Amino acid sequence: METVYIGLGSNLAEPGKQLRSALSAMEQIPSTELLECSSFYRSAPIGPGEQPDYINAVAALKTALAPLALLEQLQSIEQSHGRERSIRWGARTLDLDILLFGQTQIDEPRLQVPHPRMAERNFVLLPLAELAPEVTLPGADTLPALLQRCPENRLEKVGSTEA
Ligand code: ATP
Ligand code: MG
Ligand code: MG
Repeated sequence: METVYIGLGSNLAEPGKQLRSALSAMEQIPSTELLECSSFYRSAPIGPGEQPDYINAVAALKTALAPLALLEQLQSIEQSHGRERSIRWGARTLDLDILLFGQTQIDEPRLQVPHPRMAERNFVLLPLAELAPEVTLPGADTLPALLQRCPENRLEKVGSTEA
């Protein structure tokens, strides 16, 4: 079993609801246990054009699935939440990204782990730090070191009823 961290994000169709629904869907992934989820955060969009704010969170899972099998499960949850891939980094109902898969490093066309852009995203690093302050990335970067170098993007914790 590997401990895996998933980044959740949504900025369409009641983002808080999308995240809560995604969490219950992740509980149903075979050979996988949902351990916990961080607080929800509201963040400024980083993609192209005008977009609504995002709600982001990080969830911890334990899984016996292989990384690509887990990715397929996550993508099917995205699909069932109406995810459309039209504009890169455009608005979306649900994004589920594999941030860390134990200490495994993967560099394949369909899957790169650790997530290649996590270090520049405070909406990923802060919720991850809530769940796993001591986690180190393959290559030995610690979260405090990454947070220190991470660009400031507007981010605020939200109550679970506000999101
Ligand atoms: P970003 O990756 O910058 O967060 P995004 O999440 O909006 O952008 P998607 O449209 O969700 O990008 O995914 C594009 C492709 O990225 C997916 O089809 C998937 O194969 C690939 N991918 C590569 N590494 C990962 C990863 N660690 N987690 C999820 N998808 C990944
Ligand atoms: Mg993403
Ligand atoms: Mg994604």
